[in-house]
Amino acid sequence: MKNKYVKQAYAEVSNRNKGETQFLNAVKEVFESLEPVYDAHPELAKKKYLERIAEPQRVIEFKVEWKDDNGDIQVNRGYRVQQNNAIGPFKGGLRFNQSVNLSILKSLAFEQTFKNALTGCPMGGGKGGSDFDPHGKSPAEIERFCHAFMKQLYPYIGSKKDVPAGDLGVGGTEIGYLIDEYLKHRKDIGTLTGKPLDKGGLKGRTEATGYGLCYFTEEMLNDHGKSFKGAKVLISGSGNVSTYACAKATELGATVIGMSDRNGYIVDEAGIDYKKLIKAKEGRASIENYLKYSDTAKYAENPTDLFKVKADIVLPCATQNEIDLDTAKTLVTNGVYAVAEGANLPTKLDAIAYLQENKVLFGPAKASNAGGVGCSYFEMCQNAEDSKWTFNKTDKKLHEMMVGIYHNVKDAAERYGDKENLVMGANIFGFETVTKKMK
Ligand code: NDP
Repeated sequence: MKNKYVKQAYAEVSNRNKGETQFLNAVKEVFESLEPVYDAHPELAKKKYLERIAEPQRVIEFKVEWKDDNGDIQVNRGYRVQQNNAIGPFKGGLRFNQSVNLSILKSLAFEQTFKNALTGCPMGGGKGGSDFDPHGKSPAEIERFCHAFMKQLYPYIGSKKDVPAGDLGVGGTEIGYLIDEYLKHRKDIGTLTGKPLDKGGLKGRTEATGYGLCYFTEEMLNDHGKSFKGAKVLISGSGNVSTYACAKATELGATVIGMSDRNGYIVDEAGIDYKKLIKAKEGRASIENYLKYSDTAKYAENPTDLFKVKADIVLPCATQNEIDLDTAKTLVTNGVYAVAEGANLPTKLDAIAYLQENKVLFGPAKASNAGGVGCSYFEMCQNAEDSKWTFNKTDKKLHEMMVGIYHNVKDAAERYGDKENLVMGANIFGFETVTKKMK
């Protein structure tokens, strides 16, 4: 860091959050990209926005006691990080995974504050979860845990206060259990989003992140005289985001030639059919199962080798740290001209820098996968109006939102002299939106 104030602010945040590596990494990345703003506007330093935006408004930590199938009592820890509510209620997912700790949740809540601001919807940032790991638990144990978790969390949330949603380990089923428990205490259906359709959910929310990613990417491509039409695409993962990215990229004229899962990847030059993929992956089966539905597909182990397949566009939609520097070099050698992130943090920082240096168009997750949380806001509106939106209404508004995000982010990057740097543009535009409302 070169800017004196930014450097000082980061030193203060590091000092206050010693040992919280994930959180400090997230803060550093954002602070660094805000240096041009502070170089141009040194007068902002006295408002201390950086120190204020990095400190959560409130952190709630609680004990969750529940009974396993043997009737034995188990203890887990629950959290809710209420990061920033300058532009609207705290908003962000709940993650159930053994890796969950305060540093991870604080980093995600910090990122979420910027992402939510990009959508143009009045939503602040938050994140929560538990070190409870659903893997290896029976459905009844997961249900009991969700009820016990919400019994502790419900006093702190509400549709105008803090609106959690799903994240890793928390899908529609878990949100269904959580809202059932919440409604026993308070009649406020808009308090959770990502709900099943019969419990106040929104048509189109399931598809939103994958579709939104493709709308953003198409706008970015069009802006550079390119499009999905006729392009060969690789998409990592075969879960919610990847499947609907495959559906929309195909609809926009691309051929999705490769996809992956935790164990391996498939290549099908004839194009992967997302409906067949959904069937093949039923019950979290191996993606190798896709071979039953296609005569042309091939399967191989080691999912990272997917990125060695020659293609034009890459959409990492599985997990964090999928693309490292070596992988980025392979993509450049293979002639890939666009990478847009569907997953959160799938590309390492040095890999992003390499792709940008080599003129690969790069869509950062904060902007390119914001369609999911954007549609969560539509779910909040639907619940507040006590109405039912159609799929088409959601999809049309999602498309408008993603096109708007692309241009706002690009304009911010352009104003600070690096128009192709959408990472910087997303951080700057998010920062400007939040700080405008911070008193
Ligand atoms: P899912 O659990 O539905 O899907 C994840 C997919 O990634 C699965 O197919 C999984 O394989 C695969 N996978 C996991 N690890 C690897 C790996 N190392 N290599 C290749 N594939 C792997 O999750 P989502 O699709 O919901 O989320 C994916 C990402 O997108 C996460 O980072 C999430 O935080 C982010 N995101 C999701 C949003 C949403 O609306 N769902 C919104 C914004 C961001 P397997 O099937 O074998 O388990």
